[in-house]
Amino acid sequence: MHPPDAAVSPHTYDQRDLVAENEALRAQVGYVMEQAQRNHEIMCRHQAFDLEIVGASNFPQLVGTIFRLLPVISDLDSVTLVLVDTDADIYTVMHKLGIDFETLPDLLFCEHAVELGFDLERARPRLEPYAHAEHRSMFPHPPAGLQSVALVPLLRNKRLIGSLNLGSRDIERFTPALGTDFVEHMASIIAICLENVISNEMLKYIGLTDPLTGIYNRRYIDRRLVEEIARARRQDYRISFMFIDVDHFKQVNDSIGHQAGDDVLREVAARIKMELRLSDALARFGGEEFVVLLIDADLAAAAIVADRIRAGVADKPFDLAGGQCLDVSVSIGVAVLDDYARDHAIEGVAQQLVASADAALYQAKETGRNRVVTAE
Ligand code: GH3
Ligand code: MG
Ligand code: MG
Repeated sequence: MHPPDAAVSPHTYDQRDLVAENEALRAQVGYVMEQAQRNHEIMCRHQAFDLEIVGASNFPQLVGTIFRLLPVISDLDSVTLVLVDTDADIYTVMHKLGIDFETLPDLLFCEHAVELGFDLERARPRLEPYAHAEHRSMFPHPPAGLQSVALVPLLRNKRLIGSLNLGSRDIERFTPALGTDFVEHMASIIAICLENVISNEMLKYIGLTDPLTGIYNRRYIDRRLVEEIARARRQDYRISFMFIDVDHFKQVNDSIGHQAGDDVLREVAARIKMELRLSDALARFGGEEFVVLLIDADLAAAAIVADRIRAGVADKPFDLAGGQCLDVSVSIGVAVLDDYARDHAIEGVAQQLVASADAALYQAKETGRNRVVTAE
């Protein structure tokens, strides 16, 4: 007996159906696999990014890395960073450490956290269409065709330290409906790294500068001297060293008081600085003593600069707070790094250079003050 036709045909129909279903499933699995592969790649790129920013050892390296890599790995058309910088402390220190802000046009500062436009109690990322008027301060140089933005708060211990701003030409890229876990995670790592490098740079700055005058301190000049002697030997140029001491400063303090004496020290530092080139280094060595390291200057050139400094202090009375006026003078000893120093250990050579300038200063004091003496 043959089975009825009806029993055969549904069976073959079922099989064809299964094949089609199977193919559809395969395509779907293929798509899911492709997505998974893509997500994996994105994750790897972001992990590499995290490693790179965690490894940044200073401020310009960190922000430079963020601006260079983030647009590439996240396929963004604009990335900017706004830092809350009350009293411009960060800006000032970074500037003094020699950071060239012109090379970082997407790094912005604001004075107060409220300017960032987040709810200060519970700052959340803002994912929204780009509107020039509203987002101008976050994107001062928006690329043409910017369509959607993510403004992500940078938080440290619940304190708003800035905002990471991402921009895309794709209107669908950042919409309020989108999840924010990913950008928040990224922002939290960036915030930690920023806080770290900023405090490191601050410490570096504090450790190398004199709080009274704002110029370098002795520790800085000791280090710099060793570096410069090594470089001067390699590149074969002269460096000179000056010891500057304020004349009769004890009397200055006695007559105008210690506070006004501090003002005099600040003004002396400023007047010395005016006569120097950017490559020269000025430091407060201690008390009322300053030192200057002149790069690529022989003894004759250094003596000319020293006399300009002497005249710059002595020729114009100091105007003090309260309308007082005071004549101040300095004595200066100058020494140059000799050729013979080539064969000696650098630290010893540095000490010798400082000692020669000090001996010349002693001569300047002995022979009447308000004068420059060069070491033989
Ligand atoms: P000379 O011309 O020989 O250098 O005389 P001098 O009085 O300047 O020399 P001395 O080294 O005896 O005195 C330095 C004075 O500088 C003594 C000290 O009270 C004062 N001094 C040191 N550090 C500071 C400071 O930070 N602020 C003020 N106002 N005075 C200081
Ligand atoms: Mg002294
Ligand atoms: Mg003195």
